[in-house]
Amino acid sequence: MRASPISPTVDFEADGEQHGFLKLPYSRNDSAWGAVMIPITVIKRGDGPTVLLTGGNHGDEYEGPIALSKLASTLKAGDINGRLIVVPFMNYPAFRAGTRTSPIDAGNLNRSFPGHPDGTVTQKIADYFQRHLLPLADYVLDIHAGGRTLDFLPFAATHVLADARQQARCEAAMRAFGAPYSMRMLELDSVGLYDSAAEEAGKVFVSTELGGGGSSTAASVAIAERGVYGFLAHAGIIDKESVISEARTTTLLDMPDGACYTTSEHAGLLEMCRDLGDMVSEGDVLARVHDITRSGATPVEYRAKRAGLLAARHFPGLVQTGDTVAVVADIIERNIPVTI
Ligand code: ZN
Repeated sequence: MRASPISPTVDFEADGEQHGFLKLPYSRNDSAWGAVMIPITVIKRGDGPTVLLTGGNHGDEYEGPIALSKLASTLKAGDINGRLIVVPFMNYPAFRAGTRTSPIDAGNLNRSFPGHPDGTVTQKIADYFQRHLLPLADYVLDIHAGGRTLDFLPFAATHVLADARQQARCEAAMRAFGAPYSMRMLELDSVGLYDSAAEEAGKVFVSTELGGGGSSTAASVAIAERGVYGFLAHAGIIDKESVISEARTTTLLDMPDGACYTTSEHAGLLEMCRDLGDMVSEGDVLARVHDITRSGATPVEYRAKRAGLLAARHFPGLVQTGDTVAVVADIIERNIPVTI
């Protein structure tokens, strides 16, 4: 396969703090010989493990970009043992536009792996992570939230993997992240995920969903920051003693099958009847969809197909046919201690 067109302005082997760019040539109307300049920070001291931290895989999710911007501007090489690669705004064109997908090619970066060096801008970014950044890393954390169309209970997540030992290592890292909830996640649409690329490369991989609605809160950013430091300490990059050590707990959740998901088969005005964090029973009305083309029509009810905890919901007030309205998860174990 051809070489990536992306060139880094940082040296991944050099000790110290470097703040540079992944330079992706992109010729366009307002810049004939221009480039997409994706910010990247590399902090390295000695020969410890490498941790790859990313936010902005989707451009309308903000906890990752905020927590990683703060980390990149404050952490020094003297604070760490090993190497930290920080890309706060992974799909940079999407992040600049404040949209989930890229305004250049409509590419959803998290459905674009393994990417292609001759493909679209989004496929070129995926290819660079696949062939150049993932191979450098031992531990990989990709910080997501719900974006403009979903809202989540804050959780870190892992997947069920074929290699039980790798799955156990991922779950230990998820618990070290220490979000209020820790999810064993079922993907409805796993083709092209960065998650799968990292997992198939044998990495210790953790993802998150820390909130949503297309913005962040003080609480969700605090969860992201504590999580990043917990993850770094777990990887052995920073001292465990330097991590905020107040007693915290996390509740283990599972999404065992497709009955977790409620998908809208109507377009209209969404009335959520239960809120995030509510316990629901099978058959409970989760939401109603009201007809917006006429008055006087009876709304359609959406009922829980299983009992559990309401862990995710559609965020905007209007809903389309095919939107995920709600996700109900199983509680596996409540309030277990966060262990670094
Ligand atoms: Zn996302």
